[in-house]
Amino acid sequence: MKNQKIIEKSNKYIMNTYNSFQIQLEKGKGVYVWDIEGKKYIDCVAGIAVNVLGYSDEQYIEAIQKQFEKIHHSSNLYITKPAVLLAETLVENSQFDKVFFCNSGTEAMEASIKLARKHGCKNKGEKATEIISMKNSFHGRSLGALTATGQQKYQEGFGPLIPDIKYAIYNDFESLKNLVSENTCGIILEVIQGEGGVIPINKEYLKKVRKLCTESDIALIFDEVQTGIGRTGKLFAYENYGISPDIIALAKGLGGGVPIGAMMAKEKFALSFKPGDHASTFGGNPIATSAGNHILYRLLNGGVLKNAQESGDYLKEKLEELKKKYKIIKDVRGKGLMQGIEVDIDPKKIIKNTMENGLLLVGAGENVIRFVPPLIITKEEIDGAISILEKSLETV
Ligand code: PLP
Repeated sequence: MKNQKIIEKSNKYIMNTYNSFQIQLEKGKGVYVWDIEGKKYIDCVAGIAVNVLGYSDEQYIEAIQKQFEKIHHSSNLYITKPAVLLAETLVENSQFDKVFFCNSGTEAMEASIKLARKHGCKNKGEKATEIISMKNSFHGRSLGALTATGQQKYQEGFGPLIPDIKYAIYNDFESLKNLVSENTCGIILEVIQGEGGVIPINKEYLKKVRKLCTESDIALIFDEVQTGIGRTGKLFAYENYGISPDIIALAKGLGGGVPIGAMMAKEKFALSFKPGDHASTFGGNPIATSAGNHILYRLLNGGVLKNAQESGDYLKEKLEELKKKYKIIKDVRGKGLMQGIEVDIDPKKIIKNTMENGLLLVGAGENVIRFVPPLIITKEEIDGAISILEKSLETV
């Protein structure tokens, strides 16, 4: 009953943009969540690749609570320690030199587009405003990030979009090269296309893109909003390829569930932003950055990154086994704890069925089911998830 009332209010008062499942989640522990009726689910959605430590992690809560009691917000007119420490950890564990903090993936992408344009304008002239992104990509919902998103279904009805963004075919170097001009200032790539259907980038292609960008002074931008912060078993997904971009966008896992985004850049590009060029009231907020500090500490020093690697390999192995058994699985793709299975029936049917049986999963693209569980998930918990999925595959 309690459930029904809140669901009715949700439908009445919250703008209708999400098409949410009609269940009310109440609490979580580890990789499990419970709805208000007491039903338990293994959560392989994790807020869509956000809840790195799952739910109700005591050390995480304590780190945030301590910061709350000291100072919970201040303007960027002043310096606060958590933001500085998080910037230091991000820089010292990456190929980048400077960080800009914001609040979401969309904002991190918006900042990346602005930085690439500023750099282009400064170094190539005012006409160097062209950005190339990929078909089938996803970069967020603000007008800049939405324009960079290479999928019409998200853009319809929101035009005019921002000018000078072109779309190349992902993993097709010729298609990209044909779009490059003297006015290209940035190329945007996801290391694994997430929303587009869990499609990993090709290493040889990436090498060529890196070379092209270096030779033509084009900012290579990686959108690692979904793939970053341990998701693929490395702190950043680019480490799997040994190729780093000039600018990177991060969000999702960075705060483990507290909203935060970040853009990082190599010195040469970072220098193009001057005071007043970009800003965010909440960017670098002490609560969000103390959450980020704890997440990075646990990834780098608390064994979580290693677990993501090992559990990621195990999950892939189990999904490959299912593929051999069930013909409706056409492909298994991904890295670490970002895996997708391509199916030849409507994935929504399977997702609904597994939910009824106590497993939360999320779709990607037209025909893919995505696994992006907390990075603390164990092999036993994966076995639990796989057996629920298998039951669904047998019945749908
Ligand atoms: N970029 C990628 C690759 C994403 O997967 C997402 C969200 O799914 C975004 C950007 C947008 O992030 P946010 O929803 O935090 O604005």
